[in-house]
Amino acid sequence: MGLLDELRVAPGTAPELGRRDPDARVGAADKHAGLRRLEGLVERLGVLHNRLYAEATRSVLVVLQGMDAAGKDGTIRSVLTGVNPQGCRVESFKAPSGKELLHDYLWRAHKLCPERGEIAIFNRSHYEDVVAVRVRGLADSDVWRRRYEHIRSFERMLTDEGTAVMKVFLHLSRDEQRARLLERLENPEKRWKFRAGDLDDRARWDDFTAAYEDALRETSTEWAPWYVVPSDHNWSRNLAVAEILVATLERLDPRLPEPDPGIEAMSIT
Ligand code: AMP
Ligand code: MG
Repeated sequence: MGLLDELRVAPGTAPELGRRDPDARVGAADKHAGLRRLEGLVERLGVLHNRLYAEATRSVLVVLQGMDAAGKDGTIRSVLTGVNPQGCRVESFKAPSGKELLHDYLWRAHKLCPERGEIAIFNRSHYEDVVAVRVRGLADSDVWRRRYEHIRSFERMLTDEGTAVMKVFLHLSRDEQRARLLERLENPEKRWKFRAGDLDDRARWDDFTAAYEDALRETSTEWAPWYVVPSDHNWSRNLAVAEILVATLERLDPRLPEPDPGIEAMSIT
């Protein structure tokens, strides 16, 4: 079984997060080999993204979810470092406010979906509306439960209309989260990331895990699969996400547009 199959949550099955090891090192024999492989993937990503942008008919949506300190920001930084900022967008989802609250929960997500030729990365996403909303009791269970069906259909529509959707759950252990939150407290350069609310969420670790377990089982589909990426080791996490993204783009196989007719005969003086 290849790496992607191993990480993918097969449609209709439970992710069984408890049986997946967040501490696993995947994709390469060791860190050194992993970093080298990542370099190659980053370069390939640049080429494929350039073609996607030039073709301008299809797009890619990357959904990143995970507990606090799982490494959503770090993954974006290291995987997308070789991608032309023109044609790439990162969108972060905070608790909804203002106009967002005047609409249905998918409105803000839909508005931020990639244009043809773009890669858009959702740093958190509409999945907060079946995870955070559920765990924090922000909606009744009949409200969030019916959202799985909305989300499956929404992502089906995006796929039908030319957006490849790939979803990644960064799977962190509770111990590693503790170490990373401590580091945020102690390191002045990282302290800005720490919110007192992170501790409330940490106290609800099991509830968040249960909510993710259900969300991934309900919404991993043929057209928009979930991948569970072990995230205790940054290098392995970055490598796995890069592998998934490159594979997604290779499958799309974007083509450069045909040059203008007669261009071969032209000379530039
Ligand atoms: P961070 O990603 O660390 O900046 O935190 C963003 C916070 O916004 C997290 O605690 C999310 O759970 C929260 N959040 C994002 N979207 C929603 C939502 N739809 N409902 C409730 N909380 C949300
Ligand atoms: Mg945070």
